[in-house]
Amino acid sequence: MSLLDIYVLGAPILRQETIPVTTITPDLHQLIDNMFETMYAAKGIGLAAPQVGRAEQLSVIDVDEHPFVIINPEIVLAEGKQKGEEGCLSIPDIYGDVERAMRVVVRAQDRDGQPFEVDANELLARCLQHEIDHLHGRLFIDYLSLVKRRAALAKWEKARQKDGDRSHVRKLTPEEAAGSHRRDEEL
Ligand SMILES: [Zn+2]
Repeated sequence: MSLLDIYVLGAPILRQETIPVTTITPDLHQLIDNMFETMYAAKGIGLAAPQVGRAEQLSVIDVDEHPFVIINPEIVLAEGKQKGEEGCLSIPDIYGDVERAMRVVVRAQDRDGQPFEVDANELLARCLQHEIDHLHGRLFIDYLSLVKRRAALAKWEKARQKDGDRSHVRKLTPEEAAGSHRRDEEL
């Protein structure tokens, strides 16, 4: 397995529609394994293919130590509301309150291509909605009010200028990967 680079805000692939997976191949399994490793190293609870520069319609998720992959996921039911702080591995250090459905039922395929459904509430429901958004080019900052979005983007630009970072790729350092702290709001 290997750590993948994480694409950050500004990378065009984060805004593109993904392509449904039609065949389960060894290459796809390799991608899924590497995405899990990268998500754990980055202390996230979800990671979508576009975040590692890939166009396949899939995301990996691990909320409460229950890892699973969703291939070609679709929200078939959404109800209720929850509001909470969200972050994204592709927009490090930026957080904002996002309103999501409290409960979703998602239909997807597992790593062997078998269909399954997950019925989720609260944090898992939030994570599923965030990861499925990624597969359609949507980011959590899109849900912020204009004022809050401008403030978040200004903070983001400032941090990047300070780092002198003009690339759209985030390489995980061994120190980051070795740390044990997991942030529940990073998806
Ligand atoms: Zn994200």
